[in-house]
Amino acid sequence: NPVIGVLSLQGDVREHLISLAAADATAREVRRPEELAEVDGLVIPGGESTTISKLATLFGMMEPLRERIAAGMPVYGTCAGLIMLADKILDPRSGQETFGGIDMIVRRNAFGRQNESFEASVAVEGVEGGPVEGVFIRAPWVESTGAQVEILAEHEGHIVAVRQANALATSFHPELTGDHRMHALFVEMVRAAA
Ligand code: GLN
Repeated sequence: NPVIGVLSLQGDVREHLISLAAADATAREVRRPEELAEVDGLVIPGGESTTISKLATLFGMMEPLRERIAAGMPVYGTCAGLIMLADKILDPRSGQETFGGIDMIVRRNAFGRQNESFEASVAVEGVEGGPVEGVFIRAPWVESTGAQVEILAEHEGHIVAVRQANALATSFHPELTGDHRMHALFVEMVRAAA
């Protein structure tokens, strides 16, 4: 099985570890550069992107992560993780940085107050067997994408799932649903890259 890390600085780490194991990966927490060096791929969980950004700097992970992502390590970001994979944030908090990897501009907390959190079924390109149940929690959407970015899903006209080469990102949280098809798609990406 491929060894897949979950960036464990902040966010819903445990749920991703469970989903990855269910999708036939060996899952482990990654907090330090030495741990990053040992994984074949990495999940960046949902949580709070400003906090993940701060802690990544504090733990000396910002540069090692940027380098490995730029070098083609497969990564999958959900919600705050999607924000961390964006080359650009439309409305960053001061000092907020990202790892980058996907040529896109994201809007944080995009769905608005009325829709702070909701569920919707989302048809995702490359995921067989019908739509996935998308759990959106103060979710971002993708405002615009560069030419290299594949749009995998939209919700009400807004882009909510994308892929660029080995980087996958969703606005929603499949790790909270018990449906492991998004994780299985990512595990396949990691296998293909190995
Ligand atoms: N709104 C959060 C952020 O900007 C993301 C929320 C989430 O990951 N569920 O980081």
